Amino acid sequence: MPTPDTTSPTDFVRAIVEEDIRTGRFGGRVQTRFPPEPNGYLHIGHAKSILLNFGIARDSGGKFNLRFDDTNPTKEETEYVESIMQDVRWLGADWEDRLFFASDYFEQLYEWAGQLIKAGKAYVDDLSADEIRQYRGTLSEPGKDSPCRNRAVEENLDLFERMRRGEFPDGSKVLRAKIDMASPNMNMRDPVMYRILHATHHRTADRWCIYPMYDWAHGQSDSIEGITHSICTLEFEDHRPLYNWCLDTLGAYHPRQVEFARLALTYTVLSKRKLITLVREGLVSGWDDPRMPTISGLRRRGYTAEAIRDFCQRIGVSKANTTVEVALLEHCLRENLNKRCQRVMAVINPLKVVIENYPAGQVEWVEATNNPEDGSAGARQMPFARELYVDRDDFREEAPPKWFRLAPGREVRLKHAYYITCKEAVKDAAGQVIELRCTYDPASRSGVTPDGRMVKGTLQWVSAAHALDAEARLYDSLFVKPNPDDVPEGRDWRDNINPHSLEIVRGCKVEPGLVQAQPGDLYQFMRVGYFCCDPDSAGGTHVFNRAVGLRDTWAKVEKSGKANQPD
Ligand code: ATP
Ligand code: MG
Repeated sequence: MPTPDTTSPTDFVRAIVEEDIRTGRFGGRVQTRFPPEPNGYLHIGHAKSILLNFGIARDSGGKFNLRFDDTNPTKEETEYVESIMQDVRWLGADWEDRLFFASDYFEQLYEWAGQLIKAGKAYVDDLSADEIRQYRGTLSEPGKDSPCRNRAVEENLDLFERMRRGEFPDGSKVLRAKIDMASPNMNMRDPVMYRILHATHHRTADRWCIYPMYDWAHGQSDSIEGITHSICTLEFEDHRPLYNWCLDTLGAYHPRQVEFARLALTYTVLSKRKLITLVREGLVSGWDDPRMPTISGLRRRGYTAEAIRDFCQRIGVSKANTTVEVALLEHCLRENLNKRCQRVMAVINPLKVVIENYPAGQVEWVEATNNPEDGSAGARQMPFARELYVDRDDFREEAPPKWFRLAPGREVRLKHAYYITCKEAVKDAAGQVIELRCTYDPASRSGVTPDGRMVKGTLQWVSAAHALDAEARLYDSLFVKPNPDDVPEGRDWRDNINPHSLEIVRGCKVEPGLVQAQPGDLYQFMRVGYFCCDPDSAGGTHVFNRAVGLRDTWAKVEKSGKANQPD
């Protein structure tokens, strides 16, 4: 397993917060926030940010806000707002009564913009977006002043008011901060503060037709909410001088911005643009497709909030961008599910077994422990009868000496029941094995025999007459390369999508107690993996998503280029 380089609570962000508490920088107060833009569903990278922000507030007796950065009406939807709230809550981050929207601050932001104009620190520009880009210069060349840069304050105030009133079409004017067109930091070359967009906003409807840009909305929203530590990802480091400039120029309350490295995972894309593409192009079934790294996808797959919290705890927080092995995420899930899941018997590829010396019509109820890892989980009764199903993979007609499962003449233990010996494989006309004729040892029910005979193989099974039909959805990673962006010239990341990322197996047989399974319920299918009941379960067929296998198969994948089946 990869080992985490840092672990909270000793990470550098917490160290900064602790230092600020000690020196009384914010009067000993701590207030953090998670500021998602509601233009997509949250993913595992967001979980890192949520848990960091929430964890710091909780551990220092501070407060945690949820604030939607809803400044772009063309990309934002209520569906996203709702899913984000559900996911943040599910992860265990409680914003109590502090749910905010940047759009709640539009009036204040507008007033503040007027204040900058009056101070000669902002101007209305008529250049087009393209022209602004050309005038901005490059890293090696300073920018050029816009012809509108020296507009009189009165004219700027008038034009800005008229922008708000809707007198100008989209893209015809912007409001820009007047900072420094020669700054080595491109963000300081008169950044755009407002643009004209005649679009309906999910909360303010048509009240506004000018919308603040991220850099103008974000820091001021932090300030309005009294945030102490504005924790964000490294790409905002270059925006920090602008964050500071806005608040200093306004003379407003000033939080401290701290940047940390965003999460990247092998075999995974976390860019919102790419996730949206996967959904829009139907490359997955939706935002909550169990192959998606979204919180809702992970939840549907069978991830628990505990497993995700454990993962975020282990990866820690640092200032250096690294890529974490997806195997670590799966490891955290496996550990959590091992502790909490009931063990059940499921046969993915059923093969009929007839026990010739077992009386037809007889049914015995055998006791099965629910979870050997959890003494309080109790036991259940399972029906045993003459006709059973075992997994086709547990039989071989021609078996090597070290084959400890079924083969003609070989004896195995059926978990929680008897020893059986395979006598004969019955085939159909095409030569396909359709049934095993076996005998059982009536003296072996307790799992041992009077003669002390031992068998090495123990198989899961279900009674044919009692078993339920089920569909298993077996997932593999969505991408075939550790870095999905690793493609030859002229190709794109979509070429790295794994065509075998989902295998649907119908006609599975599972033990009858699973009739009670509800969407979201988690089980260990013995010898197969951890499975989560899917909301698609309907009409008597239960659908189960494989959350994760029982063992880490990634080490083998790295070596051989393909996964081996666990035995
Ligand atoms: P975009 O801005 O491109 O739409 P985003 O992923 O940055 O995408 P936001 O809604 O702006 O989406 O993100 C909300 C918060 O989550 C931000 O503070 C951002 O820094 C943080 N965040 C986003 N991606 C990650 C990641 N991979 N790891 C850690 N934090 C992240
Ligand atoms: Mg962002």
